[in-house]
Amino acid sequence: MKHLLLWVILSTMPVRSLGSPHRSVPSPQLADSAELRSALSWFSQNLAWINDQQARITEIPAPPFQEAARASVVKALLAASGLEVQIDKTGNVVGELPGANAQEIVMLTAHLDTVFPPGTDVKVRREGTRMSAPGISDNGTGLAALVSIARAMHEAKIKLRRTILFVADVGEEGEGNLRGMRALVETYRSRLKAAVVLDGSGTDHVTTKALASRRLEVLITGPGGHSWSDFGMPNPINALVRGSIRFINTKVPASPRTTFNLGQIEGGTSVNSIPYDVKLKVDIRSESEDELGKLESALRESIAAGTRDEMESSRDRSKGKLDWKIDVLGTRPGGELAANSPLLAALRAADNYVNNQSRIERSSTDANIPLASGIDAISIGAGGTGGGAHSLQEWYEPTGREMGLKRALLTLLGISGIVEDKSK
Ligand SMILES: [Zn+2]
Repeated sequence: MKHLLLWVILSTMPVRSLGSPHRSVPSPQLADSAELRSALSWFSQNLAWINDQQARITEIPAPPFQEAARASVVKALLAASGLEVQIDKTGNVVGELPGANAQEIVMLTAHLDTVFPPGTDVKVRREGTRMSAPGISDNGTGLAALVSIARAMHEAKIKLRRTILFVADVGEEGEGNLRGMRALVETYRSRLKAAVVLDGSGTDHVTTKALASRRLEVLITGPGGHSWSDFGMPNPINALVRGSIRFINTKVPASPRTTFNLGQIEGGTSVNSIPYDVKLKVDIRSESEDELGKLESALRESIAAGTRDEMESSRDRSKGKLDWKIDVLGTRPGGELAANSPLLAALRAADNYVNNQSRIERSSTDANIPLASGIDAISIGAGGTGGGAHSLQEWYEPTGREMGLKRALLTLLGISGIVEDKSK
């Protein structure tokens, strides 16, 4: 006879609450589940293996849009833990651990991609316990945790209530535009109850608020010509400068916090040519979708005005005109996990169990996509400490990693539920 356990939240309640009305709820103590105890202790017994997997995964380059080699190694690692694993058409590795209720799915995810271009030296250097390499923490830590949690649950023979998908997804960084997570939410939307995203190291935060952002590209074009003989012809770079100065004078609120960045300019062919085009990439972010919309409008108005000013001040209108457009390179929708969500309760119970304190954060992560669709999601670090993310000096120190792994496992099982095997 099997029954469902409401174990995480109840079993980690402080002792003083035992006299409260909660006591009447059937609440087998955590210690009652030998499988769970065994999964939790698996981590501390296999720390060397976990470090080795992290180094091995990190040493397989995974530039944006080139995650396939790394994906196939993660696929093999998940398959070795008894999962049915596939790579979907977007490139995500999806390993399924069926639960008693296959109609309800919980995802544990870690992104495969790095920000580093092909050719970057990703050899891991070890000094003492510390490991250094581009991508070692973001997201070597998350990927190592993903395969370790799958392995720990497999060896401990944990039986689930809801089905868990262990996912290594593509396209989290930059212009990947969260395409891996978008495809996952699209595919599993009707059955997906929660997503736990493992990103980087640490245990000090839980991201429950999705920061909305947009990446835009301005393009201004004109006829182009010679700096001397065509002087007076409207100049796309002049127009961009005029428009950009208008835009950067836009007032943005401190609350809801709203930011913009002119990040990259490209255009022109030589110092003595009037350019025929110029491009500008702009990143805008806000705690409010409304403010984000206003800021995008301000950019459009500024560029329109800058182009108009340049045309009006051009000395010879017969020499052609300027055109402009703004393309959206990517959008990350906003969203927020409800304060009373079962997922946040599971995370808090896990924090309590491992004696950890974490603060709520707003950030731009894979969790943006489920949150924007009304699906519960959080993003957390996978333990240990790291630094220098997105730089060639990135490092990771695994000391204390077990706590992060236990926290992630307990959160996951708190939301998937486990089925106690009474036949033992
Ligand atoms: Zn990351």
